[in-house]
Formats: sequence, structure tokens, C-alpha cells
Amino acid sequence: MTATDDQLAALDRVVAERLDGWTHELIEFLAIPSEGGDAVALRAAADWTAARLRRLGASVEVLEVDGAPPLVVGEIGDGPRTVTAVQHYDNQPASPLELWTTPPYEPAVRDGRVYARGATDNKGEFLPRVWAVEAWLAAIGPLPCRVRYLVEGQEETGSGALDALLGLRPGLREADAALIEGGGLDFEGRPQVVGGGKGIVVLDLRVRTMAHDAHSSLTVVLPNAGHRLIAALATFWDADGRPAVAGLAAGKRAPTDDQLAAIRSMDLSTLDDIRQDWQVSRFVGGLDGYDALEALTFQTTLNLQGLWAGHTEATPKTVTPAEANARLDIRIVPDQDPSAMIAAVRRHLDDHGFGDVEIIPREGEPAWWTPPSHPLVRLAARASEDVVGMPASVGVSMAGTVPMFQVCAANRVPATTLGAARDDCRAHAPDENIRIDDLGIATRITARFLGGFAALPEVPRVP
Ligand SMILES: [Zn+2]
Repeated sequence: MTATDDQLAALDRVVAERLDGWTHELIEFLAIPSEGGDAVALRAAADWTAARLRRLGASVEVLEVDGAPPLVVGEIGDGPRTVTAVQHYDNQPASPLELWTTPPYEPAVRDGRVYARGATDNKGEFLPRVWAVEAWLAAIGPLPCRVRYLVEGQEETGSGALDALLGLRPGLREADAALIEGGGLDFEGRPQVVGGGKGIVVLDLRVRTMAHDAHSSLTVVLPNAGHRLIAALATFWDADGRPAVAGLAAGKRAPTDDQLAAIRSMDLSTLDDIRQDWQVSRFVGGLDGYDALEALTFQTTLNLQGLWAGHTEATPKTVTPAEANARLDIRIVPDQDPSAMIAAVRRHLDDHGFGDVEIIPREGEPAWWTPPSHPLVRLAARASEDVVGMPASVGVSMAGTVPMFQVCAANRVPATTLGAARDDCRAHAPDENIRIDDLGIATRITARFLGGFAALPEVPRVP
């Protein structure tokens, strides 16, 4: 059933009445410093999540495997269709702490915003999805669909245990649709909706050239590991910074007309914003216009995250390093396989005479995209437009990675973003925040989405 205008007006009144109390609830959740690796705080955040979902009236199960924070599963509603909301209670590290105006785990309200680590990503995006159900139950009645919350504690560190946790209850992958962890509005309030995220491969390169570091006078006769690694890396990009590793396109699906049309409907001013923000006059390879937008979406990236070797502290030390390391990340698109990317890098090193450079795989997640014309993505756009009164911009993929492949791929479940986060929310950065008004907007958008989801004539699987 789709809710009537009167019912939605009643729901909006509930949201307005409860927003202050809900904001305090978010503040309580944000005070838990649930950073990756802090097992005690992660446990506290999982407990808080489970208790909140029980208070909503959901049936809750806390799933565990060794060595990973728990997966909190909550289910509520009995319509014939199920939508899974894929969330997380873990945070990015808050450091460097000195860059925060107020401490990251002492949530502060300033200028209509809540400031704390996790304010947007993901505690402030998860709770509106709980409040939307609460408001529906209070204002309208029984939910017209089933909502399943999957709230993990390892999203910011690669969701390494998610497959194993979902494997404990195979039914958890059976759903008609999925919500990506959040969604956004641009500064003018225009909704930004996409049907997926890129995958990622993270790997280290390591080379050892001798048993231990040496006095630098011996560099005449002893091989410097730094020199060796630089020589290898110099073959990875062309003179203009474009990837030169063969095989990075392996497994890629060609863009569809539907996807290309979505890119062509995007605003090119995004590119000016990027140039201005980073103070660069020219993009890598001379990319510009729609070619740049298409590359940003469809190109497999090859990025050097960091390099470490030898002596880097302030006081000089004359040393010749025996070991040198680099970390690379590769953003992949459907249907690329993380192991094929590792194989391409291995082949490249071997073909260029660098068989001595070792690869240490760190992380690998495939991409999952739902077509921009899919009824689910269109519904997310309509629900957003209905609340904010501006036409939505529908794109193909977010630039970042979310664990949708693990949740959706087995049953080809369609997914979409949905929410009201802004580009100035400073997710992953100091002074992360969320606008209190946007908490209400996200709640109202989500409630409309749930009503519309139950009423969709069909929800096709991803082709
Ligand atoms: Zn997140």
C-alpha cells in the first residue's frame, strides 16, 4: 500500500514532535568510541544497536564469529516483500584529535548540527531508518513490508567477516531489495541517488635486497631496496599518470546505454568544483567534460596510497635500507574479480623483471551496481523529491566502496542509496557532523520509500 497524503502528514507530525528526543538518542550512541580495533567499544555499540532495535519492536539476533565484532540483525514488519538496510556501528579513527573543534566522542550541538565521529557515517544514517519505522507504526499502523537491519562492526576496516557472518543464516541474503548505508543531498538540497558502489583491492608491495640495513657508504656495493622499489613502481604509470599495468580492465562489463545516459544527465560543474577544491588546472591525462565523468565512474583505478622505506625522521641518518614497501589500491567495477587484479599486478612485475617484488593482498571486495533506471532506484529518487521538492540527480555508482556485493550478489538483489547526508558532513575527517534538520528529512524520505516499496508493481532482480 502507498500511504495517503493524510497519513504522510500525520507521519511528518510525529517526526517533528520526536526529532528532539531522537537527536538526544543519536548523541548517546555517538558517545561510544566504536573505532575499528577497539573490541570493548565495538561490543558496547553492538549492544546499544541491539537494544535500540528491540525497543523498536524488532526481533533481534546477534551473530558472532571468532575474531570479529558481532553482526546485529533486526527484523520487523510482515509484508510480502523484504528490504535489507545495510549499516555499521564501527567508526573511522577520530585522530588527529587536535584538529577537532570539540572532542569526537563528546558530541556537541552547534549551528543546528551534531558534531562527533560517526555523526553521519554511519550512526546518523542508520538511526533515521529506525525512526522511519517507528514513525510509520505510530502514525499509520502496521508496516506494509518487512525491514531487515544488518548492522556490522567491521565496515570501515573492510567487512572481512561479513561473508562468514551472513553464512551463519543463509536466509539473510534473501531479500527483494537493499538500502546502501546512506544517501545524500547536494548543497542546494537536490537529492543524489545511486544504485551501487565500486569494489576495492588493497595490496602491499615489498622488496628485500639484503639481510639487513647498511651504513650508507656501502651503497656503492650493496643494493638499496628503495631504489629497487622505485624502479618497479616507475613502470606502473605512464608519464601522464595513467595506469600502465596490463589486465586492469579484465572482467569489466561494458557500460549500458542506461548508465551512459545517467552520466550525460549529470552536471559538468562537478568538475569545476573538483578543480577549484584541489587547486589543479588540468586533470590526469587531459581528461575533461563527459569523458572525465565517465572515467570517474567506469575506469579501474590504480592508486599509490603510501610508500615507506629507510629513514624518514627529522634528524638525518646515513642508512641504506634493506626493505622497501608500497601500498596500492585498485577501485574495480562490475564484474571484476579482486584476484584477477592481484594476478595482473603479479604478471606486470614479472614481465618487467621484478619477480623479486612480493605482493601482500590486504583487502578485496567486488563492486555491485543496480541500473539507474531500475524501479528501486527511481523510487528512492521519487521519495526524496517528494520530501525536498527538488528533482533528484540519479547516477551510476558512488566513488567509494560499500559491502553490497556480499549482501546482494548471491540473489542478484537490487540496491539503492537513500538519505539526506551533505558533502560538508566531513565523514572520515575531523569535525564530522550532521544537520539536525536533515535527520528529520532522512526519516521522512525513508518512510515514503517503505510505503512505495510495498506498492511497486515489481522489483526485478539485477540482470
Ligand atoms: Zn560508512
